[in-house]
Amino acid sequence: MRTHLKHFINGEWVDSTGSETIDVINPATEEVIGQISNGTIEDLDKAVAAARAAFPAFSRTTKEERIDLLNRIADEYEKRKDDIVEVITEELGAPLSISEKVHYTLGLAHYRQAAKELETFEFTETRGGKVIRKEAIGVSGLITPWNFPTNQASTKIASAFAAGSTVVLKPSELTPFAAIILAEIFQAAGVPKGVFNLVNGNGEVVGNGISSHPDIDFVSFTGSGPVGQKITENAAKHIKKVALELGGKSPMVILDDYDTKKAAKIAVSALVLNSGQVCSAATRTLVPKSKLEEFTEAVKEVLPNFPVGDPQNETNFMGPLVSEKQFNRVQGYIEKGLEEGATLVVGGTGKPDGLDQGYYVKPTVFTNVKNDMVIAQEEIFGPVMSIITYDDLDEAIEIANDTVYGLAGYVVGEDEEKVEKVASSIRAGLITINDAPFDFSASFGGYKQSGIGREWGVFGIEEYLEIKSVVGVRVGVPS
Ligand code: NAD
Repeated sequence: MRTHLKHFINGEWVDSTGSETIDVINPATEEVIGQISNGTIEDLDKAVAAARAAFPAFSRTTKEERIDLLNRIADEYEKRKDDIVEVITEELGAPLSISEKVHYTLGLAHYRQAAKELETFEFTETRGGKVIRKEAIGVSGLITPWNFPTNQASTKIASAFAAGSTVVLKPSELTPFAAIILAEIFQAAGVPKGVFNLVNGNGEVVGNGISSHPDIDFVSFTGSGPVGQKITENAAKHIKKVALELGGKSPMVILDDYDTKKAAKIAVSALVLNSGQVCSAATRTLVPKSKLEEFTEAVKEVLPNFPVGDPQNETNFMGPLVSEKQFNRVQGYIEKGLEEGATLVVGGTGKPDGLDQGYYVKPTVFTNVKNDMVIAQEEIFGPVMSIITYDDLDEAIEIANDTVYGLAGYVVGEDEEKVEKVASSIRAGLITINDAPFDFSASFGGYKQSGIGREWGVFGIEEYLEIKSVVGVRVGVPS
C-alpha cells in the first residue's frame, strides 16, 4: 500500500490536523492502492504561513542560485525515474512505456527548460532612465488535475522557482502519489524550507481554501471550466491574480494535399495519447469531403497500432481511464453521439473485449458529425474522434473556430501558404503543424474559455512575476 497521510510543510512531513482520509484507486484493477489525508484549512494555513515566511529570502536569491537549484532538482528527478514511472502507471493507469516516455520525460523537461530560460532572462532593464524590475509575485497556490501528475505540477513549480516565488501545491486527490515523490525530490535537492509545501486533500476544502486565502498572492489552476470559474470568483474577493488552464475541443484541419495514411496516423496519435485524457487532444478531425472515405479507412487501419490494455504491459499504448466517473462520462458521450445521428466507424459503448475489470473504453471514431452536435462541442476527455467534413479552406477555418474553446489547433498539409492561412486563422494558443513534437520553449495556454495566462518556458516564468518601474533614480537590484 502507498498510504501517505502526511503533508509536506516547511521542509518536513507533518501529520494532518484532521483525521479524514481519501482512498486512491488503481484504475486498471479498481483496487485501493493507498490513502492520503483529506487536508484541512488549518493544514493549509500552516503551509501558507511557511511559504510566506520563506518568500523574502527566496525571492532575493540570485538567478544563478535558482538555475543551480532547478538543475539539482532535475538531477534528483532523474534518480527517481523508476519510482515515478511506477507510481504514474498505478495511480493514473498509463501504460509503463507512456509513463516513462511521456509523463516522466515531460515532468523533467520543465525543470531543465526553466533553468535554461533563466540563463538569458532579464529581471532588470533600463528604459530611458527608468529601471523596470521583474519581481517574484509572492506565495503561489497551485491546483493541479490528475491527467499528467508530474507534468502539470512541474510546469508550475519550475516556473515559480525560476521566478523566486514560493508555493503551496494541492494535487488531484485521484493521483496524489506522484506529488509526494516530487516533494521528496525537492527535499533531496535542497529546496529551502517553506519554499515548497504540499497539502493533500479534496477540492472543496483545500482547493477552495487556496483560491480564497488572503495570504496567497496568485493561484495557478489546471482543471475543468466550472472549477476554474469558482476559483476566479473566490480570487476576486482579494483581487488575486489567477492563471487558468482549462479544457479544449481542438480541431485538426487536414488539407487535401497531404498523404492520407500519414495524416490518419498524425490524427490518431494526437487523439489517443494518455487514453485521450489530454486537454489539447485533437478531437475534431476536419477532412476534405472528397477524402472522407479514404481517410476513414486509413484511421481504421492505424488505430490497432495503439493497443488498449493492461498498463503493466509495455506494448500497450492506452490504459484505462482514470476513474469510474470518467468512464461513465465517456460512455455517456458515445451514447449521445449515436443518439445525435453520427455514424460509428470503430469502437462504441462498453469495454473492449477481455478487459472487464478496469475503466477501459473502446477507442471510438464517429463520422457524419456536424459541428453543432454535443460530441463536437463538449470536451469528452477520452479517445473519441469526431470526423467532420469541409468543402473549402474558409469553411474548415469557420468550423475550427466554432467552439467556446481555444486551447490548441493542428494543421496537416504540404502547401505552406494554405498551412499558414489555417495556422494564423485558428483562435487558439498552440498550433502544431504536421507531426511537430512538443517544444517547451513555446507557450502553452488558451484563448477564449480554454483559460487565462500561459505556461512553459519563459512565458510560464512571467506569470509568477510582478512588474515594477522605478522612475527617477537608478537603483542597484538583485538579478
Ligand atoms: P477538476 O477541475 O475536477 O479538478 C482539478 C483540480 O481542482 C483537482 O486538484 C481538484 O481537487 C481541484 N478542485 C475541485 N474542486 C475545486 C474547488 N471548488 N476549488 C478549488 N479546487 C478544486 O478537473 P480534473 O477532473 O482533475 O481534470 C480534468 C479537467 O482538467 C478537464 O476539463 C481538462 O480539460 C482540464 N485540463 C486542462 C489542462 C490545460 O492545460 N488546459 C490540462 C489538463 C487538464
